[in-house]
Amino acid sequence: MLDIRTIRRDFPILEQSIYGKPLIYFDNAATTQKPRCVVEKIEQGYYSVNANVHRGVHFLSQAATEAHENARKTVQQFLNAPSSNEIIFTRGTTEAINLVASSFIEGCMMPGDEILISAMEHHSNIVPWQIQAARKGITIKVIPLTETGELDMDVYRALFSERTRLVSVVHISNVLGTVNPVKEVIEIAHQHDVPVLIDGAQAVPHLNVDVQDLDADFYTFSGHKIYGPTGIGVLYGKASWLDKMPPYQGGGEMISTVSFEKTTFNELPYKFEAGTPDYIGSTALAEALKYVSALGLEKIAAYEDELLTYATHQLNAIEGMRIFGHAAHKSSVISFLVGHIHHYDMGMLLDRLGIAVRTGHHCAQPLMHLLGIEGTVRASFSFYNTKEEIDTFIKGIEKVCQMF
Ligand code: PLP
Repeated sequence: MLDIRTIRRDFPILEQSIYGKPLIYFDNAATTQKPRCVVEKIEQGYYSVNANVHRGVHFLSQAATEAHENARKTVQQFLNAPSSNEIIFTRGTTEAINLVASSFIEGCMMPGDEILISAMEHHSNIVPWQIQAARKGITIKVIPLTETGELDMDVYRALFSERTRLVSVVHISNVLGTVNPVKEVIEIAHQHDVPVLIDGAQAVPHLNVDVQDLDADFYTFSGHKIYGPTGIGVLYGKASWLDKMPPYQGGGEMISTVSFEKTTFNELPYKFEAGTPDYIGSTALAEALKYVSALGLEKIAAYEDELLTYATHQLNAIEGMRIFGHAAHKSSVISFLVGHIHHYDMGMLLDRLGIAVRTGHHCAQPLMHLLGIEGTVRASFSFYNTKEEIDTFIKGIEKVCQMF
């Protein structure tokens, strides 16, 4: 069992009051709060080891390089990746997907080829493909969803053609909370010799992810959604694919030799890391991964499932409640609307009670369109949330309903 009271002490921001009410932070799918150890790591990085990495012979540069490369190893272990050369630091999930969209389409696709994505994707797993696809004449096909908000696996199987070159799907939907059967998705694609990118932005904070067990070809996540800093994220890619892909950006670090006639590129992972990397961010991210690992992802998942069940049960008892997403396997994200109350009104009034929820389309406009709505209210839980907070949240919704 997790000791939530003790855990909450690691997150000073949770002690705040908003409009005189204790803060209830249910916007964890947008970003998570940071434990002391992560913030202290950033402070320690700047105060004690700050120097540019990889280029210096002096003590501090070597210490910073060692910290940065150790962080890469921590990420490798966290994802159970075969090699730390397959871990590329990016600004986040969005940049990681843009990198693959740009370099994979450039290096591994021809006009007329096809990519499969799903109807529940975040804009960051739609738009990068659209931009690059338009440049090269690539077709994007969309895997539809079932009534319960799960991938329609029969249609998925049928969407493969001779021209399918890549599948890119989300591990956990940031709107529906659906946990997709990504191992099966990958297995099916591999039967067609098609690689798969998994957008793990919402998955790594809640589940144990083992990229070797999944046999994922690419896996992406963002530091800020897993209790780490903003501006740092990860692309895991199999070396066999990354080696075939041209660099994403040019600059320092990513080269081996440069002349005006010809430039040769560095080896993995540096080929994809142009410019000074966020070495303070990488070490703080590693600290966050260690923090989460020490709590135990199985325990985190079990507790968050408990919160999900508890909240879903109480929400369902509210008159006019519509929850979007009824997958058999769901993560701790609940999107809903009540009666005709606009999601912004609900969000703003809950905010006045100190409750932070997200409202809007959640960067998933095609999914909103499919659901026939403009947006939802979304509550997303973390291991530092409590059932008492959910009780207050439910009372808050009831109060808003009475006002309308
Ligand atoms: N994918 C999913 C499923 C997300 O929920 C998000 C962020 O909400 C992203 C991708 C984009 O992450 P970031 O903005 O950190 O790059």
